[in-house]
Amino acid sequence: MALIVQKYGGTSVGSPERIRDVARRIKRWKMQGHQLVVVVSAMSGETNRLIALAKEVSPNPHPRELDVMVSTGEQVTIALLAMALQDLGIKAKSYTGGQVKVLTDSTFTKARILSIDEHNIRSDLEDDTVVIVAGFQGVDEQGNITTLGRGGSDTSAVALAAALKADECQIYTDVDGVYTTDPRVVPEARKLDRITFEEMLEMASLGSKVLQIRSVEFAGKYKVKLRVLSSFEEEGKETSGTLITVEEDTTMEQPIISGIAFNRDEAKLTVLGVPDRPGIASQILGPISEANIDVDMIIQNVGHDGTTDFSFTVNRGEYARALKILEEQVKPHIGARAIEGDNKICKVSAVGVGMRSHPGVASKMFRVLAEEGINIQMISTSEIKISVVVDEKYLELAVRVLHQAFGLDKAPA
Ligand code: ADP
Ligand code: ASP
Ligand code: MG
Repeated sequence: MALIVQKYGGTSVGSPERIRDVARRIKRWKMQGHQLVVVVSAMSGETNRLIALAKEVSPNPHPRELDVMVSTGEQVTIALLAMALQDLGIKAKSYTGGQVKVLTDSTFTKARILSIDEHNIRSDLEDDTVVIVAGFQGVDEQGNITTLGRGGSDTSAVALAAALKADECQIYTDVDGVYTTDPRVVPEARKLDRITFEEMLEMASLGSKVLQIRSVEFAGKYKVKLRVLSSFEEEGKETSGTLITVEEDTTMEQPIISGIAFNRDEAKLTVLGVPDRPGIASQILGPISEANIDVDMIIQNVGHDGTTDFSFTVNRGEYARALKILEEQVKPHIGARAIEGDNKICKVSAVGVGMRSHPGVASKMFRVLAEEGINIQMISTSEIKISVVVDEKYLELAVRVLHQAFGLDKAPA
């Protein structure tokens, strides 16, 4: 008998039929004698619908109220799933994040989990009950409802698995594992049987939304056995998905590149003709960070006329706010010539631990993009990844040619 935490994403519980199907899958696991804690997302499209509704009423809703509202999506699915399980003769009980309780900090819309009270869950499990927990939500010290950021149900599941010392955390979704790149963009993408935490962390942080980045951080930190699988496979035809592992698999030839990640959600800002003197970077980025805007890539060009151009990227949703800060607070103070912005860019990244021992990956990546006439606007590297910023219109092409050039469509030798 094992204690298993399962998470079902939006598409997996997207309709009454899907919810009944998930209930049947849970019943099969239960009948094998396992204890089950199940985390669910809102039905697909529901979180987007709720956010859009809020914005129809108020263009800039207060984050606390937004959390009260968007957390309702998950509250609907926990109850529906409990009903479906009860109809199959399985004891089941639903809990909101606050009822568990999943204690978080008070950063509304992107709260962090601080602790989880396992008391109720343990006694239900002892009583042979399937415990169903609303993903994506928690409650702060003052009892305010909080949410964990888009895709946050993954993190709820991993945090529960860590708190309960579960034997495995299974993330059920609409693809049958983690692929070498998003299979919806490159149909030749290959499913990986295993991927290291380190690589998965990079893939997630560089845009592969199959797992929320915080869930991977949590799993790495607390050594949670994490697996991504499909909820759409028929009974008897289930595959074992992708296991996220701590160790690099030394029994296999390590590929240099494990995957290509991309993120459309980016925007670039440039401060032109900045006087080249100490303190400029902090004068430009200080007001941006005070406004709680995360900066990703940064480039400062060396100037020969005593001025430089300073570019950086932000999340596209924060582009307008960042542009306004530069125009109003930065430009007049530092005497820059002009501010430019581009919110039609994207970031494409090659990720792989094998890169550490193989020089030449960057030059190959740049050559492949050049051969397609794709201009690289910015570059950033780490030990196990190379990212480039390119015009958004080249996203699919860039991902496809890089995927092919690094041989990701073929099984490793
Ligand atoms: P859920 O609603 O189950 O949380 P998501 O839509 O958040 O599902 O994540 C699953 C999606 O992630 C897939 O449908 C796929 O399009 C996308 N995706 C992006 N990169 C990858 C990748 N490398 N491997 C698998 N799926 C990926
Ligand atoms: N429902 C939330 C979202 O759409 C959380 C999740 O699905 O993980 O972002
Ligand atoms: Mg998701």
